[in-house]
Amino acid sequence: MIDVPPFRTLVVAALAALLVACSLPLASESEIDTQGDAEFQKIRNKTPISTDARLRAYVNCVANAIVRELPPPYVDQDGEVEVFDSEEINAFALPGGHIGVFTGIFKVAENQDQLATVIGHEVAHVTEQHALKRYNREATTQIGVVGVAIATGTGQAGADLAGMVASLGLSLPFSRSEESEADTVGLRYMARAGFDPRQSVRLWQNMQRKDKLGPPEMLSTHPSSGHRIDELIAQFPESLQFYNAAQAAGKQPRCQR
Ligand SMILES: [Zn+2]
Repeated sequence: MIDVPPFRTLVVAALAALLVACSLPLASESEIDTQGDAEFQKIRNKTPISTDARLRAYVNCVANAIVRELPPPYVDQDGEVEVFDSEEINAFALPGGHIGVFTGIFKVAENQDQLATVIGHEVAHVTEQHALKRYNREATTQIGVVGVAIATGTGQAGADLAGMVASLGLSLPFSRSEESEADTVGLRYMARAGFDPRQSVRLWQNMQRKDKLGPPEMLSTHPSSGHRIDELIAQFPESLQFYNAAQAAGKQPRCQR
């Protein structure tokens, strides 16, 4: 005897298929962390690592001081800090708590406070969930990839998520509003860690100066609003309060090259 599914079951199945066709599954924070872990390992496998012990200790000193100021769950993430031997004026942070600095960044980051500006900014993109939000925005609106997603199950969605994580912070530009947010939040992190927020202006000035000779890689993924420096200065009253409180509480980092 042939088992014919009742009409109702067919309708439900058709409706379910239609729903799948309208949106990809949304990603969770833990999924994006896993993708961040994988991406970080990939970069580490193909990029030479600096063997300069002093430099590595210096970057770790600044990065660790900032990570200590992050809200949960980021403060507890067991991420890695790596210094890549590359002329690129660039740095990045990935979901999962990973921070990468290219040695070229020291052409613009002259001291611990300026390096803290860079790391604070990069980490803020992660804590403000810019990769996760962008992926979920695209997943709910992007119908074009749906045919593939249906054909391959969730695998394709996972691959898209991986691509999104890989490109953010490395090749895909953030939006202007994400940049402003990362500047503001990053400034708070560095100030709370006891780094001088006024040095953020020097860092971005140095970056702009380099821009005239040939754009630093970092500026291609972190577009300047044109008002970036004015906006940072406008936030000095708040960030200096954080800085003074941190200093008074004994947070006086002395990270040296
Ligand atoms: Zn940015």
